[in-house]
Amino acid sequence: MGRATVSDSDGGGAPVKAGTGPNRGEKIWNGGAGANPLRVSVGMDHRGLALRPAIFKFLNDRGMAIIDRGTDRPGPVDYPTVGRAVAADVQSGRARFGVLACGSGLGIAIAANRLPGVRAAPIFSEAMAELFRRHNHGNVLCLGSSWQSPREIVPLLERFFASGEDQDPRHRRRVAQLDGGGCVACLAGEDPEIFAAIAGERRRQEEHIELIASENFTSPAVLEAAGSILTNKYAEGYPGQRYYGGCEFVDRVESLARERARQLFGAEHANVQPHSGSQANMAVYAAVLRPGDRMLTMSLSHGGHLTHGHAKNLSGMLYSVTHYETDPLTRRLDYDAMARLAEEVRPRLVTIGASAYPRQIDFQRVAELAHAVGALAMADMAHVAGLVAAGLHPSPVPYCDFATTTTHKTLRGPRGGLILCRERFARAIDGAVFPGIQGGPLMHIIAAKAVCFREAAGPEFRDYQRRVLENAAALAKTMAELGFAVISGGTDNHLLLLDLRENLPDLDGKTAQTLLERAHITVNKNTIPGETRSPVATSGLRLGTPAVTTRGMGPEEMRQIGHWIAEILTAGDGEASGVAVREKVHALCARFPLPYP
Ligand code: PLP
Repeated sequence: MGRATVSDSDGGGAPVKAGTGPNRGEKIWNGGAGANPLRVSVGMDHRGLALRPAIFKFLNDRGMAIIDRGTDRPGPVDYPTVGRAVAADVQSGRARFGVLACGSGLGIAIAANRLPGVRAAPIFSEAMAELFRRHNHGNVLCLGSSWQSPREIVPLLERFFASGEDQDPRHRRRVAQLDGGGCVACLAGEDPEIFAAIAGERRRQEEHIELIASENFTSPAVLEAAGSILTNKYAEGYPGQRYYGGCEFVDRVESLARERARQLFGAEHANVQPHSGSQANMAVYAAVLRPGDRMLTMSLSHGGHLTHGHAKNLSGMLYSVTHYETDPLTRRLDYDAMARLAEEVRPRLVTIGASAYPRQIDFQRVAELAHAVGALAMADMAHVAGLVAAGLHPSPVPYCDFATTTTHKTLRGPRGGLILCRERFARAIDGAVFPGIQGGPLMHIIAAKAVCFREAAGPEFRDYQRRVLENAAALAKTMAELGFAVISGGTDNHLLLLDLRENLPDLDGKTAQTLLERAHITVNKNTIPGETRSPVATSGLRLGTPAVTTRGMGPEEMRQIGHWIAEILTAGDGEASGVAVREKVHALCARFPLPYP
């Protein structure tokens, strides 16, 4: 058992190692597999070997990536070992589905079903294959060579992979109950309204193309930690210095999270407690500014965030804010102009970082121009943190005094914030977070952050970020070819901005967003440099590729999506085009399932 992978044509993903021997436990989850996204884990004992060629041919012919858990030779193999290996792939999200074979299909199904989240069954007819997917949300198909010939299993596989999960709340509730009375299982009975809303949101995430640049799909492991019993624990303070008893385990969690964050970004100190990116920013301000102090920061309509001194945000109310903008011609940051402004304003803090800026940021340059006027430098890398962690965007950490980030955007962790700083600011930052602006930390979220930091340190994550960039470039190129004005002429990161005034002067961002929503393509309207409309209407659209890349979509799909967007926005037929495209969107999404069992 344990020979090389038969098919791993995943457009550059990490090689999928096979076998239940030395490679077991190797982390290969990378959120999809590029050009051939559907990963299927396959295993059989010596009795199931007769079905192996037919199973492999079926999956290979359809371009699916196979994790081969053996066996590929006639010697005796214990079916529980193989069943468990395939089930573990499905449970962890490494594979979306599993196919198992033994003599009867029974023993290996029983073995696989021992793992929560795995739903395995022996299947004997096409109707069973379909119902198994639709009603039971079956994810591991089991076959028996004693009763089924290689030819007979093909239509069963065909029907299994062609069917989808019925999202009717009745089925979802029952499937949830199968998984051992976990939270979702009791939620269905305890609070059917919230359960139905969650089921609806799951379906929306499954069936919509998510192009909101700040959203992503976490790994199943991150989700599990975020939904864990750690939510029950109060732990004001920091590891070893808590204001509550019983903190030995959460201390371990937070220490691991801090250490992993430090390692990942090469920082001297990490505070993992901020509940969100906004809190992280406010904590830095609270640590180093007094009300009325001067801050130089990026304008909202040029890409900055509300917490960068917007008049309606506490940051704009407390501090004396001067905004810098992008260059009117290139729409890139003009560092010389920033330096001149810094000379003029003499701020206490210069911030750099954006929610809607498609180009690389020269954090070193900004830190230097801040330090040259005696200011501190804070980088808000919320959007690009995943790229920074993967080494695909310059890091602010060696240069800026503080780096803040969210953990849920490109970084693909749970919703939350993080502050990195130099050791000399550690006490001030920790004090600003707690007791400064927060109370008890969210320990379940901190655990999920720790899982995220571990994932982000792996080679698959770098490959994922590489594909995020590749997809954003492909989408930007397509939109430009279709006559859209891509702000700054393209993108260096995970997002792009369209200026609709160029080719569709009568269409505002809000209407465009609504039209695309009809097709189940989710984007957000965005103010753009030189904005002429209100922030409610806007003239721009922001498109981002982190979430679609996690699903495994690649440049080919980006081109297709770009054409759909253009078709809908230029049709001028109200909602008709959007509705017509919707079916195609669903079909595309079905080919790229979410990474959850
Ligand atoms: N900073 C930037 C650059 C952002 O884009 C965002 C969120 O969009 C934030 C901070 C705030 O993050 P949160 O929504 O977690 O408060």
